[in-house]
Amino acid sequence: MQVWKFGGTSVGKPERMHSIRNLITTTDTRKIVVLSALSGTTNALIAIGEAAKANNDAEAARQTDDLKTHYDLFLKELYQTEAGLAQGQQIVEKEFSFLRSLVGIKPFTIKQEKELVAQGELLSTEMFAAYLQEQGENAVLLPALEFMQIDADGEPELAVIEEKIATILGQHTDKQLIITQGFICRNPRGEVDNLKRGGSDYTASLIGGAIRAEEIQIWTDIDGMHNNDPRIVKRTFPIRELTFEEAAELAYFGAKILHPSTITPAKMQNVPVRLKNTMQPDAPGTLIANQSTQRDIKAIAAKDNITAIYIHSTRMLNAYGFLRRVFEIFEKYKTPVDMITTSEVSVSVTIDNSEHLAAITAELREFADLEEHDLDQTIVCVVGNFSADKEGIALKVLEAMKDIPIRMISYGASEHNLSLLIHSKHKADALNALNERLFFYEQEASEVPSAH
Ligand code: ADP
Ligand code: ASP
Ligand code: MG
Repeated sequence: MQVWKFGGTSVGKPERMHSIRNLITTTDTRKIVVLSALSGTTNALIAIGEAAKANNDAEAARQTDDLKTHYDLFLKELYQTEAGLAQGQQIVEKEFSFLRSLVGIKPFTIKQEKELVAQGELLSTEMFAAYLQEQGENAVLLPALEFMQIDADGEPELAVIEEKIATILGQHTDKQLIITQGFICRNPRGEVDNLKRGGSDYTASLIGGAIRAEEIQIWTDIDGMHNNDPRIVKRTFPIRELTFEEAAELAYFGAKILHPSTITPAKMQNVPVRLKNTMQPDAPGTLIANQSTQRDIKAIAAKDNITAIYIHSTRMLNAYGFLRRVFEIFEKYKTPVDMITTSEVSVSVTIDNSEHLAAITAELREFADLEEHDLDQTIVCVVGNFSADKEGIALKVLEAMKDIPIRMISYGASEHNLSLLIHSKHKADALNALNERLFFYEQEASEVPSAH
């Protein structure tokens, strides 16, 4: 069995949903098909929630009407029969009347907000399942809210998911296509919750791990993982193969094509992940698996909204126990540390969740001196297999960064990651400079014709 996930742009137009039907029915493999919301819907729902929270009912109603109009038009092109269209209209009417009732609840709390954003995936999957039914496909819609469970820390309950999904699948052994929602789940209070923005990728890999799928395919709007962020960098190209470790680093350090946690469940069960392009299904895409044949530098990613904290020990030299005390504070506030650099008396760390920054720095000051922390930092992460050529790689990276101030460097923790901390205003320059130096410099130098 395989798990195929289609993102927002892949379901964002009626004709794309038609192509997805063709794609998922071309081969006989039984599939779980995970869908995101139609592109733009989650953002629109968040905006409606903001208006509701601010008690701006007129604005919330106006935005809800606009979104509903979009869906009404979408339905007309999606379905091919009167009966199909009537079914689609019934779904949209039902979901929007629920949405309107949610927006009217006062006070509008985080609970309502989460139910509201979940409507995007509920709409797309119900509409798509009705379309498959209209076309006579052997498909069933399984609600993710019946098996996708997170704990109090927002982490997936792997054992629960595995057990529930096995039971539910056992009830539908005659179905060839099983459709479900990405992104949404239930929390320990039984409320509707989600796996954070871009979470449908994570849903696909949690399901793939739970059912020990033969393969997980993430279908999106680009031909695989590129060697650098194509939204910022001029000359990027797809990477054919990545190891789980390399892909996990790239996703965690900002490659938007994958939710940061996507690789973990797939890697745990050794399920290969293939990234494919819905608009160009014949392109090879990227295969992420245990082994990869290509070596050296693979790709660069960047993660924004980083805060750097600079901590100096007040006890000067040989203060063992200092690092433990520092990290206990981050643990207490459940705040992951991304980068660390140390000297004899100082340690600098970065965090991307600054929710508890004030409390963390106040506790650190009880036993350490703190420099003013830096906001608006970006981690630039170079990923690859560096075991073959360590010295050369660091040199090339620093050469590329010669005009850009570097605040921290982290290298050597693993053989596939070199990270740099810079101010976010230098991000575009850094990514482009690294791209040219690491991926094109030698190739173009060797192409220069001899001068005579
Ligand atoms: P989906 O809606 O299918 O989940 P996303 O927008 O979340 O799609 O992810 C795909 C987008 O990720 C691409 O269109 C591209 O702009 C962006 N992206 C950022 N970094 C990379 C990268 N290294 N390789 C490929 N795409 C990337
Ligand atoms: N619809 C959700 C979002 O926009 C989840 C996803 O697209 O993966 O974040
Ligand atoms: Mg995405």
